[in-house]
Order: sequence, then C-alpha cells, then structure tokens
Amino acid sequence: MSKNNCGRYIGIDALREYMTPDNIARAESALANLRGVFVYVFPYLTQSGEGNISLYARGEDYHRVVRRQLEKQMQALSERYPGSNFAPFVDASPFPEVMAAAMSGLGVVGKHNLLITPRWGSYVFIGIIATDLERASEHLPLQSCIGCDACISACPGGALTVGGFDASRCLSDITQRKGALTEREVFLIRSCGTAWGCDICQSVCPMNKSAEPTDIAEFGFDLVCTLIPSDIPPTQAEFKRTYERRAFSWRGRAPIARNLELLFGESDGGQ
Ligand code: SF4
Ligand code: SF4
Repeated sequence: MSKNNCGRYIGIDALREYMTPDNIARAESALANLRGVFVYVFPYLTQSGEGNISLYARGEDYHRVVRRQLEKQMQALSERYPGSNFAPFVDASPFPEVMAAAMSGLGVVGKHNLLITPRWGSYVFIGIIATDLERASEHLPLQSCIGCDACISACPGGALTVGGFDASRCLSDITQRKGALTEREVFLIRSCGTAWGCDICQSVCPMNKSAEPTDIAEFGFDLVCTLIPSDIPPTQAEFKRTYERRAFSWRGRAPIARNLELLFGESDGGQ
C-alpha cells in the first residue's frame, strides 16, 4: 500500500448527490446495509518517457494491482472493525470515485474530471472499499483545481468543454472502441500517435508538473511503452495469453490491433 491513503470514512449520504439512481441501486445491492466507503489512491507514474501506450496501461493491469492492495487493506479494516463487512471496487464502480477521493482530502477535482493529488498529481488510480460500518462521516468540502483551462484547450477530441466532459469525443475512449471508426476518429488516432489511451489533458496540467513517480512495484517494471503491429499475435487466444496482465488487453485483440494498423499500416479503420 502506498503511503498516500488517508482511509477517511465517507458516509453514503454524502455521496448520494453525485450518484444516479441506478448507481445507488447497484451500490446497495453490492453490499447489504451499505453505510459508507473508505477511499484510497494508487500512483502509477513512471519515468518511462515517450510511447504509444498511455502511461496508465504500461505496467501490470491496475485492476489486478489495486484489487490486491484493497484486499490487504480490507484485512486490516476487518481486524480493526470486527463484525463489519467490506467490499472492494476498482473502476466501473457505482461510486463517484473522484468526488469521494476529493471529499476524503486526497486531492482536488480537475476540469478534466480527474482527481489531482498533491504528491502524484492526477496519475493515480482510485480504489474504494464499501462497508456496512456505521460511523460519523469525515468528509471535507470539495475543492477544485486552479482552473487554468489548459486541459480544455489541449484536448484533441473536444471532449472537454466548459460544459463538462463528453466521453464519446474522448480519444482514450475511442482507442478502446470496437468496430469501425469514423474518419474523424481515425484522424485523431493518427494525428496523436496513440495506440491505446490519451495522456494529453494530464500532461499539459500545471498541477502535474511536480508529480512524483509511483512507489508501487507492479507499476514500475516490465513496462510496455510502445507496440508495433508485429507485437500483436494473430489470434485472440494468443493475444490474451501474451497480454492478459495488461490493461490494454481488456477489450480483446481487435481494437489495439486496428489502432496499430492505423498508425503503422494502410488500414482505414474499417470505414
Ligand atoms: S484523455 Fe485526451 S481526448 Fe480524453 S479528455 Fe483528456 S485530452 Fe481529451
Ligand atoms: S489543466 Fe488547468 S484546468 Fe485542467 S485540470 Fe489542470 S489545473 Fe485544472
């Protein structure tokens, strides 16, 4: 566990205003008698430099790493609060992770919709442990970034606007999409030179200038920074075997193989 986690308890009532009715129902069905959450952050930045794989996806898949770390944390919580129940969430969580982390005092909310921590900038994953433990909520008022708008100006897809975030225009989202891409989406992948993900809004953020590298071993070695088409095995089964420990494999072989063909080959993205 990184020494970056305050483990502050946030009561579920403080989070409800940021949750859709569907997410509230999902959260309540995931853990009976849900009362609150503990929030943790896990830094992933390394000094690995340029590459066509987004910084977050270069080491071991964060789902696996964060899950292991949360399980250790749950063990400690179970010893401290015997009789209470705990459930870990990594990504695709029904909880408003960024808001919860900011309320925990772990950072501020950026205009790119990411958490920005004082030590690791926005290069962190957020993990949540839901619980039926009843305590006084220790949440703090939400704070925002310095609001320079550099992320909005630099966003290549126009996904960030003063009105909010539009995932359908986000290059990171586009690189993970299955099926044919539009001409504009193909242009975005080619012009930004990315095979997976997009780091632009984070790399231009002045609040990331002094971001420290991760202290989590699994994010710091055996990195995949750049891929070329011949790195992708010809079948889905071989692809999974080769890259099952990587976050960029979760959508299967097709999207990343297509993206690499767009960058290095003659493909038109299936238009
Ligand atoms: S990840 Fe890239 S495309 Fe998505 S919001 Fe950030 S800068 Fe824009
Ligand atoms: S680039 Fe500026 S506006 Fe965007 S998140 Fe960073 S500090 Fe906030």
